[in-house]
Amino acid sequence: MYLFKRVDQLREFLSSARTNNRTVGFIPTMGALHDGHLSLIKRSLAENQVTVASIFVNPTQFNEASDLQKYPRTPGKDLELLAKVGCTVAFLPEVSDMYPPGLDTSLSLDFGGLDQSMEGEKRPGHFDGVAQVVKRLLDIVSPEFLYMGQKDYQQQLIVRSMVQQLNISTTVITVPTVREADGLAMSSRNVRLTPELREGATILHQTLEGAREKLSQGESIDRIEKWAIQALSQPKFQPEYFTIANADTLQPIPANDPLPERIVACTAVWADDVRLIDNLMLAGQL
Ligand code: AMP
Repeated sequence: MYLFKRVDQLREFLSSARTNNRTVGFIPTMGALHDGHLSLIKRSLAENQVTVASIFVNPTQFNEASDLQKYPRTPGKDLELLAKVGCTVAFLPEVSDMYPPGLDTSLSLDFGGLDQSMEGEKRPGHFDGVAQVVKRLLDIVSPEFLYMGQKDYQQQLIVRSMVQQLNISTTVITVPTVREADGLAMSSRNVRLTPELREGATILHQTLEGAREKLSQGESIDRIEKWAIQALSQPKFQPEYFTIANADTLQPIPANDPLPERIVACTAVWADDVRLIDNLMLAGQL
């Protein structure tokens, strides 16, 4: 595996690697890698000749300094995992190289409401930071394919919207959420859960599954959302939102309208001071 820390070195490598119709697949991550990340990398390895994974804890997408500071960092183990799975290139840039003084990386895009609810509402500025870092990374890597996880459902829609608005010639592929045996979505933040919270955290997936069942039985969306908030309100667990929405627009589904073909439920829950998110398609495919 090649390891690059500098933008110019990676660019030089990719310009020589990109011969003979080779395609480049790219997976941006913030490290503390787990099997969820590795599923994106394996998918890229199966579909491209060159796979680039970046590890960069992007300061501009953290709306709280303490969250950025507490974010787990395990670069040594990450590199081992990437090498073991056969990743072609690991890219670990410095903040100063990602956002050099004098380079304007800010974007002003209209996400058509995709950024107004859920994570966008609860974490002001978060998606501007996500779009900014993904755009900068796409400028550097110019991949044919970009692999994003369903785990961050709203994020992959925002990135798709950005790619479309800016006419970037990269195809975005969304990879299904990888879960632990008991249903908990894998996340870098899970390492911060105490054994007790880790056990209780299955409530997210259970509630999402419960919502799917209730919708299939004809229960109203409003009632399901209220039921879910109650179900998630357990000792040491505090739901921030449980939202059922049109899976393409993330707009609420009005009570008397026919149900759209694709419906998603997304939730964020505090487990003590650890913020967990998850989602499930309640109708239609990913
Ligand atoms: P992060 O390091 O949290 O920024 O995640 C990097 C990428 O991995 C994002 O596209 C995430 O959606 C994706 N990802 C994180 N956890 C999972 C998971 N459990 N299953 C699938 N993809 C995931």
